[in-house]
Order: sequence, then structure tokens, then C-alpha cells
Amino acid sequence: MRIGIMGGTFDPIHLGHLATAESVREIFDLNEVIFIPSARPPHKTDKQVTAAAHRLAMTILATRSNPKFSVSATEILREGLSYTIDTIDELHKKFGETAELFFMVGADMLADLSHWYHAKELVEKCKFVATTRQGSTADIEEVEKFFGAERMKNINLITTPGLEISSTDIREKVKAGKSIKYLVPEEVEEYIGETGLYL
Ligand code: ATP
Ligand code: MG
Repeated sequence: MRIGIMGGTFDPIHLGHLATAESVREIFDLNEVIFIPSARPPHKTDKQVTAAAHRLAMTILATRSNPKFSVSATEILREGLSYTIDTIDELHKKFGETAELFFMVGADMLADLSHWYHAKELVEKCKFVATTRQGSTADIEEVEKFFGAERMKNINLITTPGLEISSTDIREKVKAGKSIKYLVPEEVEEYIGETGLYL
């Protein structure tokens, strides 16, 4: 089994997340991709991150039409600060220790990976796929120095078409009464309209 994991706040999920997950799925020949919305970090207030139930609902709506995509509420149910390493352990229990897990991160997150909880152990337990936009080069020298050559085999850097979409931008557009059509799936656009999120 080869399983992709797309973690994020998904506030809201957008076509950048979905297109990236689909292209990584193809490149790495993954059996499926699991989207895992994160719990609201304890230090953030209601105003800063939308309630988990909404983020989960939008993630389910956005991925429903792709049979290779699924959603896990594990980090939301765990509440509080979720460590990726706990999620990875849980997935290994579910799919077996031989399952290969590929955790997707934007290149911006890669630079930060050495600060993650039990980072070195994490990189031994699962593979990372860091996506950068065409033309941009990630500074991975620091990353290499920290993890060492052997662990670096588990960190893949790939370029994907540059989808200049961010959740921040979408929230701002909604607030300003602007269209978010073609930036999020239709179902998500409708959900945001019906619930009045981000107004
Ligand atoms: P925000 O603007 O609120 O920070 P975001 O758009 O960055 O939101 P997140 O939920 O924070 O979305 O991101 C989840 C994961 O998806 C991260 O690994 C992030 O690097 C990656 N990501 C975010 N936007 C894109 C995009 N347009 N293309 C590819 N990957 C993305
Ligand atoms: Mg972000």
C-alpha cells in the first residue's frame, strides 16, 4: 500500500490543495490520498480558525467526487495540538507497518520540518513530498544538514504547476464580497455561501 496524506487547516480547502494532491498521487502511484484537517490549535481563538466541523464538512464535500481521495477526522477528534508523528503511528496501525506513507507539504513548510515534534524519527517513519512551484527553488541546504543523507532519501522535492491560491486569499475575497468561483470546488463555494462563513 502506498498512501498519501494531505494535512492542513483547510480553512477553506481550495483547488491548490486538490490539484497538488492529485498530481502527487499520480507521480508516486499512490493507492489513495487521505486529507486530514488539523484540530484548532489551542492558542488560536474562534476568530482565527473556523470551527473544525465546518472545515471537515468542506473537506468532505471537496473530495467526494474523487474515489481515490478520502478524509480522516482523526486529528479533529484527538483535539488540542496534534503531532504528525501520532497520526503516522495511527495510520501504520490501520494499514500495517509495511504501508508506505507519503506526507505532502508545501515547500514553505519543508524549511520548518526540522522543528516538528520528533522530526528525525518522523522522517524515518514516513516519506515527505515537498511541492514547489515551477521556477522557485526551495532552500534545502539547512534541511539536508539537519536530517543527513540517509533520511534525505525520504524527502522528495517535486515541482507542481503553480496554483497561486491560498485559503487566506479566499477568506479575504469572501469578506470583500468578491467571487471565489474557480478557486474552490462548487460544493465548497455553495457551502460558504449558505453558512455565511468568512463574512
Ligand atoms: P492559509 O492561507 O490559511 O495559510 P493555505 O492555503 O496555506 O491556508 P493550509 O491549509 O495552510 O492552506 O495548507 C495545507 C497544506 O497545503 C500545506 O502543506 C501547504 O503548504 C499546502 N498548500 C497550500 N496552498 C497550496 C497551493 N496553492 N498549492 C499547493 N499546496 C498548497
Ligand atoms: Mg498556509
